[in-house]
Amino acid sequence: VDQNPAQPEFHQAVKEVLDSLRPVIEANEAHYRKEALLERITTPDRQILFRVPWVDDQGQVQVNNGFRVQFNNAIGPYKGGLRLHPSVTLGTIKFLGFEQVFKNSLTTLPIGGGKGGSDFDPKGKSDREIMAFCQSFMTELYKHIGPNVDVPAGDIGTGAREIGYLYGQYKRLRTAYEGVLTGKGLTFGGSLARTEATGYGLLYIVNEYLKDHNDSFTGKTVTVSGAGNVAIYAIEKAQELGAKVVTTSDSTGWIYDPEGIDVALLKEVKEVKRARLTEYAAARPSAEYHEGRGVWSVKTDIALPCATQNELHLEDAQTLVANGVQVVAEGANMPTTREATDFLQENKIAFLPGKAANAGGVAVSALEMSQNSERLSWTFEEVDSKLQAIMADIYQNISAAAKKYGKDEDYVAGANIAGFEKVANAMEAQGIV
Ligand code: NDP
Repeated sequence: VDQNPAQPEFHQAVKEVLDSLRPVIEANEAHYRKEALLERITTPDRQILFRVPWVDDQGQVQVNNGFRVQFNNAIGPYKGGLRLHPSVTLGTIKFLGFEQVFKNSLTTLPIGGGKGGSDFDPKGKSDREIMAFCQSFMTELYKHIGPNVDVPAGDIGTGAREIGYLYGQYKRLRTAYEGVLTGKGLTFGGSLARTEATGYGLLYIVNEYLKDHNDSFTGKTVTVSGAGNVAIYAIEKAQELGAKVVTTSDSTGWIYDPEGIDVALLKEVKEVKRARLTEYAAARPSAEYHEGRGVWSVKTDIALPCATQNELHLEDAQTLVANGVQVVAEGANMPTTREATDFLQENKIAFLPGKAANAGGVAVSALEMSQNSERLSWTFEEVDSKLQAIMADIYQNISAAAKKYGKDEDYVAGANIAGFEKVANAMEAQGIV
């Protein structure tokens, strides 16, 4: 805290990880202390901060802050998304980069952890303004990335359009056609099933949990927050698996639709028109629209927070438990506050943390890197079946790690331990670097 006083989310993430690693640390304390392993694993390899000047449609120069935190490359090139949102600070990117290290380790694939972004707000900008920003951002970023160095991807505010502009500028600056970004368009090296991967992966891991407990999605009620990439495909897969999803939300309001969310309509409103959820409600007689937040007040069997960090608070967890929730699985990164997580776990609710539950996106990104290296494209079914196998492995690995340290069914501990052990072992083998 003394070293980084203005980074509360980073402290929250580090504290959560270190607390749950207590049994592993205690078993190796003298050794880790001598190696300063915990100090090294919580300090990024490199933090890059830069100015991003661009010209808006009025001819006025705008200036944003650009960030790339290359956190840890012990097990593979840095990998993690670029977040474009006005709330982005170095602390946000650091917390996300730190989480990414363990998440990427859990995917079973050889990728290190990093994260980047800017306080640029893509909302309300023209395509030309978005392109101007992306080109300026890449004009600095390209010096620090490469297919064997650091491979950024999308995140909040960075979708297919932004990745396209970023890739175009990288190619122009480097004169090289290489897999330096993932989430690319299908005509230039993108992977089938990447768009669906995080949301689908979330449902695959919950399904794995349910199977392990002789249960299934059939007839279950599911609540989802968010109406972005993760939320939309989580809703789609939940319904395919036999559940009814009754909520969706965005940054201004939320929908309760007792008939079940109409995914085609939601895609039309959010992916095509980029409009507010009021448009969904206007086109769907069964739906109620409410201003503000409130998704977690709805009675549900399975709650899937898929919007943003710290969006499920203690009071929400209390309501969910009072309403009989069975499973909470994080589609977003750290959407559940620490107090809410503790409360859910104390009440024996199955809680699948984001670093395991939303790892499907980065897993398929790593598969995109493999396809780029091979100069081949796999079919949707091929990628989707690999994704299912990866999510099943993640579930088995985190369950086993939790059991090994006497924390049966504590998936937070299981995910942190399984992710940590692999990175820590690789760091030790590589010496003091
Ligand atoms: P999108 O930008 O596509 O969607 C984000 C959604 O959350 C939007 O509906 C947005 O509302 C809403 N939202 C954003 N900020 C807030 C807020 N402060 N309060 C309430 N709602 C908010 O992002 P993604 O779906 O890609 O990402 C969602 C989360 O999942 C993030 O935490 C991201 O880091 C994480 N994640 C994403 C992965 C991916 O593959 N996309 C992979 C792993 C994790 P509005 O429509 O009004 O903007």
